[in-house]
Order: sequence, then structure tokens, then C-alpha cells
Amino acid sequence: MNSPYRDLPSVDRLLADERVAPLRERHGHEAVVQLAREILEEYRASIEQSGSAPPVAVVDVLLTRAEQLRPSLRRVVNATGVIIHTNLGRAPLSRATIEAMQRVSVSYSNLEFDLEGGRRGSRFSHLESLLCRITGAEAGIAVNNNASALLLALGALCAGREVIISRGQLVEIGGGFRIPDVLRQSGATLVEVGTTNRTYTRDYAAAMTDQTAAILRVHASNFRVIGFTEQPSLSELAALARARGALLLDDLGSGALLDAARFGLHGEPIVQDSVRAGADIVLFSGDKLLGGPQAGIAAGRRGPIEEMRRHPLSRALRMDKASIAGLAATLEHYARGEAETEVPVWRMIAETGEAIGRRARRWSRACGAFGLASEARSTVGGGSLPGEELDSVVCSVDPPGGDADAFAASLRAANPPIVARIQDGRVLLDPRTVDPREDMHVEATLRALCGAGAAGTGLAGGE
Ligand SMILES: *Cc1c(COP(=O)(O)O)cnc(C)c1O
Repeated sequence: MNSPYRDLPSVDRLLADERVAPLRERHGHEAVVQLAREILEEYRASIEQSGSAPPVAVVDVLLTRAEQLRPSLRRVVNATGVIIHTNLGRAPLSRATIEAMQRVSVSYSNLEFDLEGGRRGSRFSHLESLLCRITGAEAGIAVNNNASALLLALGALCAGREVIISRGQLVEIGGGFRIPDVLRQSGATLVEVGTTNRTYTRDYAAAMTDQTAAILRVHASNFRVIGFTEQPSLSELAALARARGALLLDDLGSGALLDAARFGLHGEPIVQDSVRAGADIVLFSGDKLLGGPQAGIAAGRRGPIEEMRRHPLSRALRMDKASIAGLAATLEHYARGEAETEVPVWRMIAETGEAIGRRARRWSRACGAFGLASEARSTVGGGSLPGEELDSVVCSVDPPGGDADAFAASLRAANPPIVARIQDGRVLLDPRTVDPREDMHVEATLRALCGAGAAGTGLAGGE
């Protein structure tokens, strides 16, 4: 009788299989050997338990499991039409931004070194003049993300005292980031005023005491209250805060430095307007509408920004050198007036329906009888412009076999993975958020999947 153990291939025989050679090239000899040993060990354990080998070839298991040897965090093609997709890494970066990040990463840099004096310098110095020039503020500081910037502002400027906020602005941003929780963490006391839909300047005025450190305004970045609503203007709040010796903090969230209304997107506040209206500190993200690397920026008056810089939390929340270099390079696009063409997020917003339509029709042709180009909407996403949409054209696939979930899963199994959206049983791919250099990959993947489906093999089991 044959021993099931003896039927197991040796590591050498597995490595000699021609299908395994590309794995060794991609992942390295050692990693593949290690994985082969692990799998053989599992086979032996399984035989020991049940008396026979699992009914699948060892080499097939090896090929499947080699997928896990890929880095966990990978590039993907975003065909969802959501420009700032938090789950897909938010803003893709401009070429100049990547190059700047690379330059300071492959070598040493003057990150905290004053080249003129030959002394210790500050990492915060590299961004400040750019931030001031672009936003019109007196001073500026950038930390790890906007959640940190808000925590630092509240911790440095309001701890142990009261912060007044409208009940309509006690929001959850996403990922469990809730304004009341952040306030509590910072050591400040929350004072709620007004109602969910209406808050007046007099509500704020009535709540102010000698314990008031600040009024906090939070932009409702991911939802919209419509109908019978009221919120005072920022300049009214600035006047009130100034008269009572309190600060006005404005958390804008996405931080548009350009006016999105030019592209038919309304309701996104602009950083420069908040500074001009008299907010003492304006807070916003680096990787939402600004279109740079992850960062949180505070721009405003010199005194409070200095207090933030000196607070111990600024050390804990500091940015790393690559992000500082990248943020500076992205801000330079704004300073030079070229953001609309150079910053990918704005380029995607500004993209015309005509150009998108041409690409959607090409993709649809790759799907044969299963695809058609159809009008749809793209969204900006990432906690900005809720309810606002851009006209777009998508490649709409009625998948072979009729299973949209399975088709979307097959797209995600491509290399690089393609992420699409499903609507009414169809799979939609929006070229607006796809770099045209990735079009060939999208077309080839669609052609392969629809070709396989047309031949009647089905997709669900084809992976
Ligand atoms: C997105 C957002 C934040 C958090 O910003 P991150 O950069 O993601 O930390 C804070 N406040 C508002 C209003 C936001 O929209």
C-alpha cells in the first residue's frame, strides 16, 4: 500500500515546477522555500489526523498562498468615481510631491538644522512661510493629521476651560472620530448651545463666561442639514469672541484652497475666507481637497500658533520629514497658481465629461456585449461636499453570468486590483478617478473577464 506521506512532493520538486519559477523571481527564493516547507508541514499534519492527503495538489496550494507574500499595502486602481476615497488612501500625489518626498528620504536633510547658523533648527520652519503666503494667515503649523491638529489646538489653548459649540456641529467625522470625545481628551469642557438645526449668535453670547476659552466651529463635512436652519456667519462669531476675550477656532475639515464652485460644486468653505473672516485658528487636512500627503494644518494668529508649537503634544503629533517635503511641494503648486493642472485631486475635479466619455466608451467596447457607456455621477468624497456631484460617464457592465458581486471581486483580484462600484445589479467603472496610464490595464482586465464570461465559463468559480 502507498504511504500518503511518500506521495508528497519534496521542496526541490516543488521549486522545479515551472509555475513556481515566477514566484521565486517576485518574492525571492528564501520566502518561497519557507512557504513550501510550511505547506508541506500542514499536509503531514492533515495526513496524520485523517490518514490521507487533502485532495488538492501541493503546488496549487503554494501558488494560491504565495499571494500572501505580496506586501499588504498595495497600489490599487480607483474606478469608484469617488475622488477622495478614504478607504483607498485619499489624495494621490503630484509628481513634484513624490519627487520632493523621495529627495529627502534617500539622503540626510536639514530637517531640524539651521544651515546658516550651523545650529539646531525646527522642523516646523519649513512650511510656515508657504502656509502664510497661501492662506493669508500670520502663522501656521502642520502636524500628523487634522484630528491631531484639532486635539493639539484644544489641548494647548483650551485645556481646563470651556469650549462652546453648536449642537448642530457635534459631529462624527468617520472612523469613530467624534468632536465631543476629542474635546474630552483635550481636557477642555464642552458647552453645547442652540439646537440641531438652528443656532444664533445670541446662543453663543449667552453661554460665554470667564471660563470660556474658545468658540469652536466645525464644518459639517460629511452630511447636510437642509430646510429650517440657521448658523451665524464666521465674522459674527469672530466679533463676539474678540469682544469677550475668547478665541475662535474653525475646523474646516477638507480645507479647500481653491473655490470648488467653479466646477459646479457648492458649499465647500475656503481656507482663505476663514482667515479673512477673523478666525484665530483655521484647521484643515492635507490629504483631502488640498491634495497632498496626510497632514493637519493650523493657520492663524501668531500667539496661539506659538502656544500650539510649544505644547508637548506637538512633539507627539509631529509630521515626518517625507510628509513635510511633500506638503511643501503640494503647497508650491498653489503658490505658483498651477494647482488646477498639477494637483491630481483638482485635475480630476476639473476633468471634462467629454474626455471621460471617450475613455468610458473604450472600456465598454472591451466588455463586448456586456458593457455600455452611460451617464452617471462622480462624488468628491473624503468628508467634503456632501450631496454635491459631478456629471460623469461610466463603463457600465451587466456581468456575464449576472453576478455583479462576483464580477467586482474578479476586478479586485486583478494585479493591480481594480475597485469598482455596484449599482442596480451592474458594475460601474468611472474613468474620472483612474489615471489614464492605467487605462490599458483596466481594458485588458475587462476584456479577459468578459471574454471568459462569454465563453460560458462563469466568473464566480473562475478565480
Ligand atoms: C476629515 C475631518 C477631520 C479629520 O481630519 P483627518 O485629516 O482625517 O484627521 C476633522 N474635522 C473635520 C470637519 C473633517 O472633515
